Amino acid sequence: MTIQWFPGHMAKATREVQELIKRVDVVVELADARVPQASRNPVLNEILADRPSVLALVKTDMADESVTKAWQHHFEQNGETVVLMNAKHNQGTGKLVQEVKRLAQPKMEALQKKGIQNRSIRAMIVGVPNVGKSTVINRLVGKNQAKTGNKPGVTQGNHWLKVSKQMDLLDTPGILWPKFEDPEVGYKLAITGAIKDERLVYQDVVLYLIQKLREHYPDALKARYNLSELPSEGVELFEAIGRKRGCLIAGGDVDFDQAAEVILRDFRSQKLGPMSLEEPK
Ligand code: GDP
Repeated sequence: MTIQWFPGHMAKATREVQELIKRVDVVVELADARVPQASRNPVLNEILADRPSVLALVKTDMADESVTKAWQHHFEQNGETVVLMNAKHNQGTGKLVQEVKRLAQPKMEALQKKGIQNRSIRAMIVGVPNVGKSTVINRLVGKNQAKTGNKPGVTQGNHWLKVSKQMDLLDTPGILWPKFEDPEVGYKLAITGAIKDERLVYQDVVLYLIQKLREHYPDALKARYNLSELPSEGVELFEAIGRKRGCLIAGGDVDFDQAAEVILRDFRSQKLGPMSLEEPK
């Protein structure tokens, strides 16, 4: 895996998020339910500076339901507030708003004691690229007011969007840099689409995915690719799938680049069914 971030860019993006966080009462952190650990960045904890936060596990429709429940339990055991969301079918939005209000309560009471009445709760969304920030903003705001495709360094308006009478949302989501010293984390983020890089070796990524699926979801693999048995070696399995899907080069050898694309597309478009790529320890 050859993905690298430039430390200067990372530091700048982190500073930007840190500045935005100072303007809000509650932070909503999004993590991908399929990879709840890999899609979080611990830097957030450092820059929250005692601000309350809620962890929204999004894309639950794409993840393994029982594994998602186990993650929810795991994070709650650690004292975190967790909401399960499926933005595609608009599930969890009401619960998220409710939790933001609950977490903002002490701050709002303190403001009232100082004589500041009727100040709206201010919240913001943060998360790694492609986790679903714009989608969740759109869900919270109702109408398609949120801009999509925000990138670090792009000039942003920083306006407030109205969620309700009592709650405003920063129009700019905070982009957290993915963090992966561990190559497995890099693979998981590449598979789920949080990192895109032309230099990525997709064959490596897909080989990792195949091995994971072989271990946890063998029946789904057999069904999708019409295989009665799964070869124990990852490369052989990769080849068998490529052959079944007709990904061949002249001479009849398997075209691994094409096969990688097919498998990745199948996973991302849920042709293999809802799946999780990591479980709580
Ligand atoms: P951002 O880069 O964090 O703002 O991510 P986007 O909001 O642009 O979402 C990235 C992709 O994930 C889009 O194709 C969304 O349609 C998709 N997406 C977001 N939330 C969900 C969800 O809960 N379920 C599913 N299936 N797809 C989602």
